[in-house]
Amino acid sequence: MNYTIKQIAEIANAKVIGDKNLVIKNIAFDSRIIYSTKNTAFIAINTHKNSGEKFIESAIDRGIKIIISEHHYPQFENVNWIIVENSVEFIQDLAKYHFGNSHLKSIGITGSNGKTILKEWLYQCLWNEFPTVKSPKSFNSQIGLPLSLLQINDSHKLGIFEVGISKPDEMQKLENIFSPQIGLLTHIGTAHLANFKSEEELIDEKIKLFKDSEVIIFNGDNQLVLNKINNLYSSKKLITYGFKESNQVYFKNLNSKEENLIVKYFDEEISFPVHQRDEATLTNALALVTVLKDLGIENQKIVEKINTLKAVEMRLEAIEGIKSNIIINDSFNLDLDSLKTALQFLNEYNKSKKSLVLTDIFDVNFNSKELYEEVSDLVNEQKFDSVFLIGNEISNFSDLFKSKTYTFINTQELIDSKHLTELENQIILLKGARKFEIEKIKDLLELRKHDTVLEINLNALLHNINYHKSLLKPATKMMAMVKANSYGLGSYEISEFLQHHHIDYLGVAFVDEGVELRKKGITVPIVVMNPEQHSYDTVIEYNLEPEIYSFRVLELFYAAVQKSGFDKKYPIHIKLETGMHRLGFKEYELDQLSETLNKMNVKVQSIFSHLSSSDIPEEKEFTLNQLETFEKNSSYLIKKLRYTPIRHILNSSGITSYTDHQYDMVRIGIGMLGESPNSEIQKQLQSVVSFKTVISQISLVENGESVGYSRRFKADHNTKIATIPVGYADGIPRLIGNQIGNVGVNKRLAPIVGSICMDMMMINIDHIPNVKEGDTVTVFNAKPTLKEFAEYCKTITYEVLTSISPRVKRIYVKD
Ligand SMILES: *Cc1c(COP(=O)(O)O)cnc(C)c1O
Repeated sequence: MNYTIKQIAEIANAKVIGDKNLVIKNIAFDSRIIYSTKNTAFIAINTHKNSGEKFIESAIDRGIKIIISEHHYPQFENVNWIIVENSVEFIQDLAKYHFGNSHLKSIGITGSNGKTILKEWLYQCLWNEFPTVKSPKSFNSQIGLPLSLLQINDSHKLGIFEVGISKPDEMQKLENIFSPQIGLLTHIGTAHLANFKSEEELIDEKIKLFKDSEVIIFNGDNQLVLNKINNLYSSKKLITYGFKESNQVYFKNLNSKEENLIVKYFDEEISFPVHQRDEATLTNALALVTVLKDLGIENQKIVEKINTLKAVEMRLEAIEGIKSNIIINDSFNLDLDSLKTALQFLNEYNKSKKSLVLTDIFDVNFNSKELYEEVSDLVNEQKFDSVFLIGNEISNFSDLFKSKTYTFINTQELIDSKHLTELENQIILLKGARKFEIEKIKDLLELRKHDTVLEINLNALLHNINYHKSLLKPATKMMAMVKANSYGLGSYEISEFLQHHHIDYLGVAFVDEGVELRKKGITVPIVVMNPEQHSYDTVIEYNLEPEIYSFRVLELFYAAVQKSGFDKKYPIHIKLETGMHRLGFKEYELDQLSETLNKMNVKVQSIFSHLSSSDIPEEKEFTLNQLETFEKNSSYLIKKLRYTPIRHILNSSGITSYTDHQYDMVRIGIGMLGESPNSEIQKQLQSVVSFKTVISQISLVENGESVGYSRRFKADHNTKIATIPVGYADGIPRLIGNQIGNVGVNKRLAPIVGSICMDMMMINIDHIPNVKEGDTVTVFNAKPTLKEFAEYCKTITYEVLTSISPRVKRIYVKD
């Protein structure tokens, strides 16, 4: 976009305070990830859950000079305001106007699953055919779609946008803003079905997007979808794809073992190699081919493009580097948009020194001078300490970069220069086009080289938090339990992420855990569930809030408060015993407790208890009893205290099963990691943790030969066996050897054979085709799931996670 404030005010009927002639090219809505302030306005979006106006100050601190808001805050000086009636309607109206005046060909993707993957695949195939704009990440909502549309500028010839809905009537609103020429409907599944009366109603709503489309491409395997689209849109060009041969586009040899699959597209055949053959990948591939054909791309080119598609690696990973560096490695292809995403990601870390490695950029939307001017402007705003440019083209423009800048012809030259290994305590962003093989730099700078990793997907974690929040009242607070190193995943990394996303409280088990978080800069209130008596001084020194569960603890702690000279009321949390019989005050102690508390200079911040069996449906009666005891005893205590602390009792499965008892706060733990005992809820959650390794060696074990210590596996026919570098020292219990446990290879289960060794184990891959040394093995994530893995181990998911040894490298990924 490119509008003056005056134009915007006219389009949206808004009031302006300040300079009407300033130009706006970008709108930022999240003050934390503003990576550029040039021609950027911040919009304070108010939804029923949240007010963006809280963040106006931090946007201004970051250098923003234009604010779009429902209210004017005159205390901020030198800021220009666009005052709108309703922030959400404003952004929608502006996007509608902007899209309506654009001249690009548009593709709108909707459906329950696969929208983001298909969008990214289409983009990877088309970005070098047409100047293309797409939704960032999975921006597809009532706010995300308008923000995506506003990225369109005059040079774009093609736009690929996701459109997502979760409630009735939402599509109608979005269609009014955006009506794509090509409509693409992916799979319809049960996601969001809860908000609709039936699948039929969900389909009716989704297909409203195609009201004004010229072409509709959709999965014809679903009979209901097929009937509805055929009836409603018979006058349009309709193309169906799917596994059934009744579709116009399908696989001719789906069940064959041949390396190449043949797509039948009307009368034509297109053949290409397909390695990953799960249902989702295959249907997405059909949709992809159909759209590419419809856009007139030649068959041979389609095959070439599909061959270069990598698994959608749109991800940025943050890795611990040597010399206390953090390496951000972005393996997605490099254009201006993806550079912006990477800079946003970088801005979430507070390291004072940063460096950038950047290669030639391929972006058909610009000529190279314009392109590198834009790039250098963006880069200059980030104030890198050093910038390393790789490639002839970008090196020609090195004068545009204001930091200390070095140029190299290729990646090897930079590595040989030894500049990189001198960097210390920095955040280093690696951003390169594929052909520069910038992963070599990652290998060089990475701290521990281990093929075995525990990968933690922070987007999925946030999704799970938001899912649980969606069940609660907007005002209910949330405490995230990050005890035991966040269930083994890394308490600082998770806490920092949660703090960034405005979690209200954190909960740790012991004081040391809280101290570590404070030392690393976590400022959110932290409750210590089990403050040991020698640690009370430290609790106070680090501004932690103790759980108080007995008179002994109360008195000892209060003595420490008095000794410390703390002169305000110290915040504490009173734990009530309601049936778990672990820690807590009992009913008969409440009178004495309230009298004691009223005499002390403390503030009861909260009163809480813990459910012992909220995950067990058979114990519902017991749980309701606990809840009743809590209601009675907490109310009694509050009456005696003469002020009202907040109350909380629900853990993750409590949130989903006993939502009515949410009080003022809930405490989420395993639920944010994507685990629920309830299979319906489980479907709504995303898996956060993935424990992966690679195959070290494959051997053919002949009939009669044995595998491993004590010869506990003997082959009864010639058998293909793979060795993987994880063992009981990594936290895999030895008891799941001997074909009790399985790991995943190419999305199939491979049984563990023989005894598990300290650092290795062997798996049977005889039944799995196309496995090579170096291939990835999933100890758990999708197949087997964490829950299945826990079942092999005869334990619960909590214990599996907290048993994974610290030597397994944790990496954190975000989109
Ligand atoms: C660990 C813990 C939780 C979280 O339990 P989940 O079952 O993981 O949700 C909540 N409250 C307390 C007191 C805890 O110790």
